[in-house]
Amino acid sequence: MHKLAALDQQFVWHPFTQMRDWLASEPIVIESGHGAILRDVQGREYIDANSSIWTNLHGHQNRAITRAIGGQLKKIAHSSALGLANEPAALIAQQLCEKARLPKVFFSDDGSTAMEAALKLAYEFARRARGVKKPRFLSLHGAYHGDTVGGVSLGHIDLFHKAYAGLLFKTDRVMAPYCYRCPYNRAKPERADARTYRKCNWECVGQVEAAFKKRKYSALVVEPLIQGAAGMIPQPPGWLRSVSEIVRAHGAQLIADEVMTGFKRASNQIIASHAEGAQPDFVALAKGLTGGYLPMAATLTTQEVFDAFLGSYDEFKTFFHGHSFTGNQLGAAAGLASLKLLENEKPRAQVERAMTENAKALWNLDHIGDIRQVGAVMGIELVKNWRTRQPFKLVERAGARICEAMARRGVLTRPIGNVIVVMPPFCATPRQVERIYNALAESVLSELRGRES
Ligand SMILES: *Cc1c(COP(=O)(O)O)cnc(C)c1O
Repeated sequence: MHKLAALDQQFVWHPFTQMRDWLASEPIVIESGHGAILRDVQGREYIDANSSIWTNLHGHQNRAITRAIGGQLKKIAHSSALGLANEPAALIAQQLCEKARLPKVFFSDDGSTAMEAALKLAYEFARRARGVKKPRFLSLHGAYHGDTVGGVSLGHIDLFHKAYAGLLFKTDRVMAPYCYRCPYNRAKPERADARTYRKCNWECVGQVEAAFKKRKYSALVVEPLIQGAAGMIPQPPGWLRSVSEIVRAHGAQLIADEVMTGFKRASNQIIASHAEGAQPDFVALAKGLTGGYLPMAATLTTQEVFDAFLGSYDEFKTFFHGHSFTGNQLGAAAGLASLKLLENEKPRAQVERAMTENAKALWNLDHIGDIRQVGAVMGIELVKNWRTRQPFKLVERAGARICEAMARRGVLTRPIGNVIVVMPPFCATPRQVERIYNALAESVLSELRGRES
């Protein structure tokens, strides 16, 4: 075993990982990356098919981002935002506010902390400005908003969240659109994205409306266009727009968790909500904010929310919340370089198209039930039998086994249960995208043959 792999196994506890499984075989130790390629200490190369857990936009060792971080490093790496301003944070603040069409930004470190800030601001805003005694939040079935206690309270994935129920505050959940497995969808399975042939009466929108009629929620929290950790579950076009109008009509706020969808990952817009003509009151950004190079996050909000925290010193209306690395210069410099790169629409459009083209052949495989693409994100749902939509049981580890087989073919991604995630960096070449899909198809054929019910 490589000595770094041994050190890792001796000392490191990995996130979302059953460590007994981790210790059972030699881990891949990454040494370097270039473009869409990751290289390990053995000299093996892999395609980074999930953009290093949904963060990387422009590939590894991107020249512009590396130069921006290096240039900033020659000036200063970090000074505190408690009591001090700095150059790159001020510059990126202006750009983020313009893109989000919101006037104020609060910086933090990652997606969870960005959502935590949104939650606390929305809570206190509802109390101060709307006179609500105990503000209540509504979020979607399958929602994932990070792993801090506030984020977990907003989330509704039992596998992740149930154990901590005693630590959490109460939020309500409402039906999320999931056309492929929707109880109201009367369509028989076809060889196409379930959103395109669904037969329903928009019951999912009706249930949001019903929830708001039943109770005065302060805010609806959503992942716009596509729910990530729920299993890459996309909303049919028109859903977000409709629910944002319901939220507005009931005087509530819309909190958009754009941690995964932002920065053109899920649309051709920096802010995915805008692709649906929806304007949130809060936007949380993280993963792609620095192009995936450094941990930095942002929570954007309205003038009205900002104003609710203004007062004389002794009124103590201050937002008493913040982090040591708030407004970090290296992250902000990387983010500025990444935003500049995003002005060129070509690479993203090209990778999105290559994904669409290559996915078509997957419909020939009986164990693929749904293929759903939103921008440069795709979820591919494995089933026992596409004609019945019968799922694999979690203990069968169908998704995990496919990803292990793909890794042996030089392609790295992680499953969500039975869903394989494909979201390469925008710099991936058409040939690299093709290799991802070939590895996926070969792995499904070799691993799942004879597993039909
Ligand atoms: C990843 C993710 C988060 C959490 O972000 P971290 O940076 O991992 O804390 C929150 N919301 C969504 C939608 C995410 O995809």
